[in-house]
Amino acid sequence: MKAVRFHEHGGRDVLRYEDAPDPVPGEGEVLVRVRACGLNHFDVDLRENVSRWPLPLPWTLGVEFAGEIAGVGPGVSSVSEGDRVWVLHELPCMECQYCLEGMDNLCENARMYSVQMPGGYAEYVIAPVEAVFPLADDTSFDSAAAGQIVFTTAWHMLVTRGKVRPGETVLISAAGSGVGHAAIQIAKYAGAKVITTAGSQHKLDAALADGADGVINYNEGGVTERAIELNDGKLVDLVIEHIGGEQFGQCINTLRKNGRLVTCGGHAGEVIEFDIVPLFRNEWQVIGSRVGTKPETRKVMELIGDGTFEPRIHAALPLSEAAEAMRIIEDREQFGKVIVKP
Ligand SMILES: [Zn+2]
Repeated sequence: MKAVRFHEHGGRDVLRYEDAPDPVPGEGEVLVRVRACGLNHFDVDLRENVSRWPLPLPWTLGVEFAGEIAGVGPGVSSVSEGDRVWVLHELPCMECQYCLEGMDNLCENARMYSVQMPGGYAEYVIAPVEAVFPLADDTSFDSAAAGQIVFTTAWHMLVTRGKVRPGETVLISAAGSGVGHAAIQIAKYAGAKVITTAGSQHKLDAALADGADGVINYNEGGVTERAIELNDGKLVDLVIEHIGGEQFGQCINTLRKNGRLVTCGGHAGEVIEFDIVPLFRNEWQVIGSRVGTKPETRKVMELIGDGTFEPRIHAALPLSEAAEAMRIIEDREQFGKVIVKP
C-alpha cells in the first residue's frame, strides 16, 4: 500500500510518499481503508521529535481517520466489508485505576494512533474491532476525520473540566485552530456567550459566522480591555486556552474573581512566566485538560453525525501532498481542520 512515512525525524522534507507493507488484520482486528485522515499539530511535534514520545522508524503519522472496512480478522462478526466507520483515536485499557474511575482519557496503558500504533497517513490501517464505530449515513468521511479530536478535546475542556453554564461568558483563544473553532460551536450549544481571539481578519470573520458574539485581534493588543468591552463592562467567567506563551497571560487576565481557565496546549510557549499573586487574590482556577473520554468521543461523534456540530475543513489534500498539508498547519493559515485523503 501507499503511505506517508518518515525514516528520520526532522522538517517536512523527511516525509516520503512510498510503498509500505500491506497490513493484515489478526484475531479480533479489522482492516480499515482510510478515506480521510485529520491532521493535528501533534503530528508536527512527533515528526520533529519534540513530543517526548519515542517512535520506531520508519513511522506513519495520523491520529484520527475514517473509512471503510476492507477486511476482518478471525473472530470478527460485528462488522463486515464495506461498512463505513470512524476509528477511536486512542484505546484505553479499561482496567487501570483511571479507566475504572471513568477517566479513560487518563489511562496509564492507552494505545494511541500515531504514537503506539501506525496512523492514518496510509491507505490501510489495522484497528481492534472494539475501536470502530458506524458512521452515520449522511456524515462524510471528511467530517468524521476532521471532527473527532478537536471536538472531543473542546467538549472535555468546556463541559467536563470547565463546567460551562448557560448565560456565562467564555473567552476562547485562537479561534482558527481546530480546538478553537470547535470550542466556539460547543460553547454556543451550551448556551454561553462567546468572545474569541485570532490573529487575522479572515479567522475573525469565520468565527463570527460560526456564532461567536465578539472577536478580538490579538495582534492589536489590549485583549483584556477588549474582552471587558465586549462583555458589557464585565470580566469573563471561563477561559478556554490552548496555545500558551503570551496569550496565556493575556487570557487569564480577562477572568473574573473565582473564574476558571482551562488549558490543553502550549505550542506558542510551553514554559511561561506566571504571577501567582492575582491567581490567589482572585481565587482563579487553572485547570488542565486532555482529550476527552471514550463516552465523550462517542457523544461528540453523534452530534457531528446529526449535524449539530460541523467541523470546518480548511483544506483537503491528497495523501501524497501531506507535506503541504502540514505546512498549512505549521504556518497557522487554517480556520478549522486540514485533512489528507489517500
Ligand atoms: Zn486504563
